[in-house]
Amino acid sequence: MATETNSVIRELPEVVRNQIAAGEVVERPASVVKELVENALDAGARNVRIDLEEGGVRLIRVTDDGSGMGATDLALALTPHATSKLHELADLDHIASLGFRGEALASIGAVARVRILSRTADLSTGFEIREEGGKRSEVHEAGAPLGTSIEVRDLFYNTPARRRFLKRTQTELGRCLDLIQRLALAHVGVGFVATHDGRRLYDVEPEMDLRDRVRRTFGAELADSLVPVEIVDGPIRLSGLVAPPRFARRDQSRQMWFLNGRPLRDKVLTRVVKEGYRGFLEEGRQPAAFLALSMPPERVDVNVHPMKTEVRFRDERPLFGFLVNALRAAVAETDIATPGEKLL
Ligand code: ADP
Ligand code: MG
Repeated sequence: MATETNSVIRELPEVVRNQIAAGEVVERPASVVKELVENALDAGARNVRIDLEEGGVRLIRVTDDGSGMGATDLALALTPHATSKLHELADLDHIASLGFRGEALASIGAVARVRILSRTADLSTGFEIREEGGKRSEVHEAGAPLGTSIEVRDLFYNTPARRRFLKRTQTELGRCLDLIQRLALAHVGVGFVATHDGRRLYDVEPEMDLRDRVRRTFGAELADSLVPVEIVDGPIRLSGLVAPPRFARRDQSRQMWFLNGRPLRDKVLTRVVKEGYRGFLEEGRQPAAFLALSMPPERVDVNVHPMKTEVRFRDERPLFGFLVNALRAAVAETDIATPGEKLL
């Protein structure tokens, strides 16, 4: 047998593997913000603060007053596939947390300079860990308030090809803000503060209800015209606010669905809204509506897409009918007829 002379296959070094895998989770600053804020919410935070610099490319810092992490957990937090939220495959059927893959922090650590500072309620001292270029520091003791603060600096500093795909500061910032507002509307009961280059961009207090949050986000005219939807069928609950048809737009920027606390854009739910407003809207118009659907986690599969913006419902047909009926009833209650506007 001839000896091999020119073998070409090599195993990629772990650092490179992690950088490639990171592309699945971390596309731009807004995806980092999403992962960090979801972690804060999973940790039971009542207040979440997001500080950004240069559209998030230079700095994203998310600070929460949630459960925090002890030294042992902190040492594992940046490890791929290490999670406190899922222990075996069967858990996937009833997962109630926003995260569960254990990939986010590891991915972010592969493509940015990360520092985590955290303290749990039962300890008087906090701990810190850093990761840069795939190299992780030891866990050190460090003074910290209760909760967690995660700093992500210089996103894609070591993957220039990805960095070139980022848009202008204002565009990246806009995407971060849009996401933060969606999360703030999805999580009534939690306060959010967002700053950019030291200036306050957006804030909602924990006490503000959904209508107050819509007012803060989109203004009083829309907020004061909204009609509530509230309907329960066994373990399934739909609640939220719908706007009169005249607030419809060409884009879906004021149409939001939250499924078990997760903002999502889903084809089935978009059709529900379309059906709910049928006859009241011109073709191609998207009504303003803010709708929270809660249902047992085992009746919906959120595991379809890595970014988890798409889901698959079990028993889609009856669910669809139930939601459309509830919506139509609420839409009929809105101030449909506006002076000077012809009804379709
Ligand atoms: P996942 O959220 O899918 O579990 P992540 O990589 O986002 O994976 O986080 C890994 C683990 O780090 C989480 O399971 C959680 O235990 C811990 N963690 C991350 N962020 C926070 C936070 N803000 N507060 C408390 N624990 C956190
Ligand atoms: Mg997570």
